Amino acid sequence: MEKKIRTAYLSMGGNIGDREENLRSAVRFIRDHEGIESIRTSSLYETEPVGYDDQPYFLNICAEVRTTLTPYELLDLAHETENLLGRKRGIRFGPRTVDVDILLYEDFTSDDKVLTVPHPRMYERAFVLVPLKELTDIDVPVPEDKSVVLKGPFEV
Ligand code: ADP
Ligand code: MG
Repeated sequence: MEKKIRTAYLSMGGNIGDREENLRSAVRFIRDHEGIESIRTSSLYETEPVGYDDQPYFLNICAEVRTTLTPYELLDLAHETENLLGRKRGIRFGPRTVDVDILLYEDFTSDDKVLTVPHPRMYERAFVLVPLKELTDIDVPVPEDKSVVLKGPFEV
C-alpha cells in the first residue's frame, strides 16, 4: 500500500564544534532516511544565544521535509540525528552539537510533552521564524530581533 506523503518543518541549530558541518551532516542523515522523500533547507543564520549568554553563537536553519513518517517517527529521527552528531564528537553527556525540533507537521496538533506540535516556543523565536518564512508563507509576525543575522546560502 502506498503511504501518504506529508509536509513537515524542522528547526535545526547548534553552537559547538564545526557548526556548519554539523548542520550539513544532520541534513544529509535526515535526507538519507527511507521515510524522507525530499528535504529543502533555508539559508544559514547566525543567532545570539537566547536565555543564557555565556555560550557561543548558534547557527540555525529550517528545513521542509516531505515524509511518509508519522509525527512520532519523525521525532525519533530527530533524536537519532542529535545522537549521531553527539557521538561523532565523542561528547556523551555534554551539550548537543545539533538540536532538531519539529515545528509543524501538516495540520497535526499535539499537547503531549514528548511531542508538542506546533512547537510551543516557535512563535516567539525570530531564529525559528526568519528561516521558516523562506520555506513557507506562514502568516505570523516575526518578533523584532536584530541578533538573527543572515550568513549566506546553506549548501549540503
Ligand atoms: P529544547 O529543544 O527545548 O532545547 P530538547 O531538545 O532537549 O530541548 O528537547 C526536550 C524534549 O522535548 C525532547 O525529549 C522531546 O521529546 C520534547 N519535544 C516536545 N515537542 C517537541 C518537538 N515539537 N520537537 C522536538 N522535541 C520535542
Ligand atoms: Mg529540541
